[in-house]
Amino acid sequence: MVNVSHELRTPLTSIKGFVETLVDEEQSSEDKTKFLNIIQKHVDRLNSIIEDLLTLATLEKEEKEDDFELSDAKAESIINNVKEICVQKAKTKNIIVNSEILYNGTVRCSQPLIEQALLNLVDNAIKYSPDGSEVLIRCFDNSETISLSVTDKGQGIDRMYFEKIFERFYRIDKSRSRKEGGTGLGLSIVKHIMNLHKGKATVESEVGKGSVFTLIIPK
Ligand code: ADP
Repeated sequence: MVNVSHELRTPLTSIKGFVETLVDEEQSSEDKTKFLNIIQKHVDRLNSIIEDLLTLATLEKEEKEDDFELSDAKAESIINNVKEICVQKAKTKNIIVNSEILYNGTVRCSQPLIEQALLNLVDNAIKYSPDGSEVLIRCFDNSETISLSVTDKGQGIDRMYFEKIFERFYRIDKSRSRKEGGTGLGLSIVKHIMNLHKGKATVESEVGKGSVFTLIIPK
């Protein structure tokens, strides 16, 4: 709870400060625009944090009550829906999102939630990779489980952070995450979605080479 209030208070304090300056002091129109842009950035940030916190609260409730709907979703349709959503963001960084469908059957899951989890991984792969990089989504069968993995050739993650990054608000590089519009909640949402499916999310990575995040869903 302590870090939630800290994370909300930081942008709020900044918004308050800039609004007060605009109200109290005469500003050039150039400065006014500059301050309003800063305020807008912080408002967007607050909005993203609150949306992610609401998602987490809903997931936690569903986890407690074991109350969510499963259906048989086509692996290919999950991947295509996610690719469609992130193609625009990938384009702005000149990143290509490819897919390799080695299992083309169905996955017993909540399709919207698995799409959300996969989207969070692809979104991170784009955020933490350089311009012109490549992201690969793969789907494969491990006999007892189905895996959906996201491979990037980005900055990579040191082994010492493998568990920490799934915690709420944990970011290896806070300013980089913030610059990319991150909330620090994406992977903790992924973790909760996988708990709901009695599956898990794993990470393998090497600094400087890239990362592979995998969603493992029981059949
Ligand atoms: P954020 O909103 O900061 O991206 P996440 O919970 O999604 O929050 O991720 C937590 C942290 O894990 C990120 O801030 C980043 O440091 C690290 N991370 C996640 N995905 C990747 C990736 N594909 N490559 C490198 N670092 C990553």
